[in-house]
Amino acid sequence: MGIFILLFIIFAMQDAEQLYSELLGLKNPWRVESVSLDSNDKVVEVFIAHDRGAKLPCPECRRECMVYDHLRERVWRDLDSIGFKTFIHARSPRIQCPEHGIREAVMPLSEKRSRFTLRFESRSIRMLQNMDVENFTRVMDISWSRAWNIIDHAVKRGLSRKTSRPRIIGVDDKSYRKGHKYITLVMDMENSGVEFISMDRRKSSLDEYYKTMSDDELSRIDAVSMDMWDPYISSTLEHVPQAHSKIVFDRFHVMRHVNEAVDAVRKEENRELVKKGIMDLKGSRYIWLYSGDRLPERYRERYNELRNSDLRTGKAYSMKENIRNLWNLPSMEDAMDYWKRWHSWIVHSSIDAMKKVAKMMRMHIDKILNYFIHRITNAKAEGINSKIALIEKMAYGFRNRGHLKTAIYFKCGNLELYP
Ligand SMILES: [Zn+2]
Repeated sequence: MGIFILLFIIFAMQDAEQLYSELLGLKNPWRVESVSLDSNDKVVEVFIAHDRGAKLPCPECRRECMVYDHLRERVWRDLDSIGFKTFIHARSPRIQCPEHGIREAVMPLSEKRSRFTLRFESRSIRMLQNMDVENFTRVMDISWSRAWNIIDHAVKRGLSRKTSRPRIIGVDDKSYRKGHKYITLVMDMENSGVEFISMDRRKSSLDEYYKTMSDDELSRIDAVSMDMWDPYISSTLEHVPQAHSKIVFDRFHVMRHVNEAVDAVRKEENRELVKKGIMDLKGSRYIWLYSGDRLPERYRERYNELRNSDLRTGKAYSMKENIRNLWNLPSMEDAMDYWKRWHSWIVHSSIDAMKKVAKMMRMHIDKILNYFIHRITNAKAEGINSKIALIEKMAYGFRNRGHLKTAIYFKCGNLELYP
């Protein structure tokens, strides 16, 4: 028995058509009609057709229907055969479905409207997830626009497969083009994927997202984490019911504002001291950015000296270190008490930059303390920052803003991209 099978395979192998039918995995009624090979250009062309009189499935209902006619020949790129670029040729049949009328039949190797076989698309998507477009075009010997077609198609496929909307989102702006332009990212905080991208950071940018949701979906949003950025605040208040108790100002953003205030104090004080020929604060910027317990050992001695001195910067730093504890308190009530004491300390001090940041926090304190209801931060979204820089490089070369958006969905959208 084994010998018979072996003989059969050997006989079959002599037949290029049969061989390619096996390689392509064609099933009845589809078969390879002819194969031609161009050894100069290293190209294999495979022509496929279905058996005469065969019934083919309707794209809508999958019912087997009579063939009505054939469209003109089309070509799909498949994976290479031993270094030879391989193309599949066929005339797509149209069927006549009693229910859906005349439709293009489902083709065996590719998705509708694609110029590639499913195999080729899947392989390309896997490669493009791990390399930039430029390298991909070289390795696969494919044009830029074709490569973008694959990415675009995959993203559309992934977006169309999304079934539910997230209940916990994070909204953040990210800069690109070296900080000259901004996008708005809406993150799905449950799966850490980018949920929506808008090409600016205005109120209308976030409105655009909320407008994709029904009233029902909007009311199911439980929490929105964000920076204290007025356009995002007003858009969320306008669209999300009970947003006052759902907006959480992200602790890392709040602390960034406080850090910036400390840095402003240092700069100003350093300028004054340098004028008097005192170099105490020179080159100390990074010391003040650390929290006390994370300070690298090499800075320790200088840090202790500076903190024991009478400098305003040292005082501002203590203020920062104190407010950092706000989020570690056990309850919202405790946090509110703590905040009040901190705020009173700051406003009675003489350090303007710190007073300014305390004032900003006071305006938003309810939503800062909403942290104690929802316990969310934008920390997960921060990993996206470094990715965006890489993605920008990947999308570069096409001065097309749409490409940046598509590339972010492709790499950070957590989408089901494969056919
Ligand atoms: Zn049908």
